[in-house]
Amino acid sequence: MTHQKSLSSPDTTTWHQATRLLHAEVERTTHQETSEPLFLTSGFVYESAEQAAATFRNEIIRYQYSRFGNPTIASLERKLADLEGAEACIATSTGMGAVFCALFSHVKAGDRVVASRALFGSCHWIVAELLPRYGIESVLVNGTNLSEWERALAQPTAAVLLESPSNPMLDILDISAIASLAHRAGALVMVDNVFATPIYQKPLELGADVVIYSCTKHIDGQGRVLGGAILGSAEWITSTLQPFTRNTGNTISPFNAWVMIKGLETLSLRVDAMTRNAATLADYLAEAQGVLSVRYPGRADHPQHALAMRQMSGYSTLLAFEVHSGQKGAFAFMNALKLIAISNNLGDARSLVTHPATTTHAKISDQERADLGITEGTIRFSVGLEDYHDLITDLNRGLEALSLT
Ligand SMILES: *Cc1c(COP(=O)(O)O)cnc(C)c1O
Repeated sequence: MTHQKSLSSPDTTTWHQATRLLHAEVERTTHQETSEPLFLTSGFVYESAEQAAATFRNEIIRYQYSRFGNPTIASLERKLADLEGAEACIATSTGMGAVFCALFSHVKAGDRVVASRALFGSCHWIVAELLPRYGIESVLVNGTNLSEWERALAQPTAAVLLESPSNPMLDILDISAIASLAHRAGALVMVDNVFATPIYQKPLELGADVVIYSCTKHIDGQGRVLGGAILGSAEWITSTLQPFTRNTGNTISPFNAWVMIKGLETLSLRVDAMTRNAATLADYLAEAQGVLSVRYPGRADHPQHALAMRQMSGYSTLLAFEVHSGQKGAFAFMNALKLIAISNNLGDARSLVTHPATTTHAKISDQERADLGITEGTIRFSVGLEDYHDLITDLNRGLEALSLT
């Protein structure tokens, strides 16, 4: 495969993030196309039997089969690594594929994993249900309580998994403090950075070892395809993760990788605009009749607001709020909306609401839900790119229906 860098080679080291998202790690074919090429192929052909044999002896480094590597997937991986400031990246079929591969490539029977309790539903299932089936002890802690982490990490631990801001209540966890406790216990620190996005939080700079994304969320950000990514040191990715993903087949489709590459070009623009809308609507809802409380890291009344300011360069495209009358009030509010859709997806260009207690967090126990701060009246709101005036008009429909409950 003949690839050429760009026509001219400017000094890329001075570029800022928005520029890098468009121009860094661009590889063009001999046709010098403007947009990233899509290599929708499962395999690659060899010039001779000798070349194939030499490739399998690792004497020639070239593409062999798309489960092992593909130019479009490699391009997405280089771009994500550039954005994160990571040495290496592997893209996966979904965000859950990324969480599963990161954890299971690293641990073995007899190991111990400590995780924050406020995890995305399927991540919680992997930690609480799946790890123990394979003889791996898992311990869940209240992520905002450092003394719980300290107690749990007083013995040797293989891996720590956490999410900040968390789903759905936007708890902020102190990544640096947890990473130093975890490193003393010998653990590899994995951060699910989906809610923060690579734009607003750089876990590797805060002491984490591995960063995980569902690219389905803000990176595609337009509700089209699923994908995931794992970032970390070249040493860990090459020796631990890559043999696991290559041989167990967790591979993103080149087409989905290409969609993600196009999503990255506008990522900072979208995340900034969605966050501005979210901040405006959080303040609006906080003043509204019938809304009992609003959770938004950018508001001074958020319990970890100071930590969010320290650890993140922006807040969140999501917020959570609680309405009166419990589930009845929440359902009346949601059903009255005409612009904002009911959907459990998030990070999308379109505004979406979900009722965690009956959807994303329906399977956990009442006690666990209470521990996470999720009530019957809690609504999670993923704020999109619409004009915020129209979103306020729609929220007013919800508030009016709520007032009748
Ligand atoms: C969506 C999500 C995942 C899972 O990603 P999929 O692409 O849906 O598999 C994991 N963690 C968080 C925080 C998420 O929001």
